[in-house]
Amino acid sequence: MSEKELAITPTQLKDIIETAVRAASAPNALEQKRFDEEMDREKRRLSLSVMLAKVESETRWRKQNSCSHSCNEKTGESVPFGKGRFTTGGQIHGNGMATLICQRCATTWRFDPTHAEREFFANGPGMMGYAPPPLERCLNRDDFVTRPLSMVEAHQ
Ligand SMILES: [Zn+2]
Repeated sequence: MSEKELAITPTQLKDIIETAVRAASAPNALEQKRFDEEMDREKRRLSLSVMLAKVESETRWRKQNSCSHSCNEKTGESVPFGKGRFTTGGQIHGNGMATLICQRCATTWRFDPTHAEREFFANGPGMMGYAPPPLERCLNRDDFVTRPLSMVEAHQ
C-alpha cells in the first residue's frame, strides 16, 4: 500500500488549524454545566443584593419620615418637627465639614457650616439640639430627597 502524497494549500492548512483550536477551547458539556450553575448563583446573589438595597432604602425613608427629630424639652416626648428641642448632636470634622445626627433615629445631615455656625458650634453648646439644615445645604442630600421608587409603586 503506497501512501499518496497529500496536497494541501496554506489556506486549507490555516482552516484546519483554526478548526482544531476552536474545538480544543470550546467548553465541554461538564464545563458548560458548571458555567451555567455559576451564572445561576451569580444571578441569585445579585437579586438578593438588589432586594437588600431596596429594603434598606425603604427603611431609611420610613425612619427619616416617621421621626420629627424633635422632643419636648421637659418630658423628652416626641413633638412635631421644630417644636421643643431638636434631638440632635454632632461634630465638626478636621476638613471643616459638619455632621449632625438625630440621636433618636440616627438620621445624618452632612453640611458645610457657615462662618457664623462654626463660631456658634465652637463657642456655644456645640451641635447639641442644633436644627437640621435645609436639604439643599446637605452634602448627603441624596439620602433624603426621594421616596424609594419601590415604595411609590407599592402605594399606587
Ligand atoms: Zn430623628
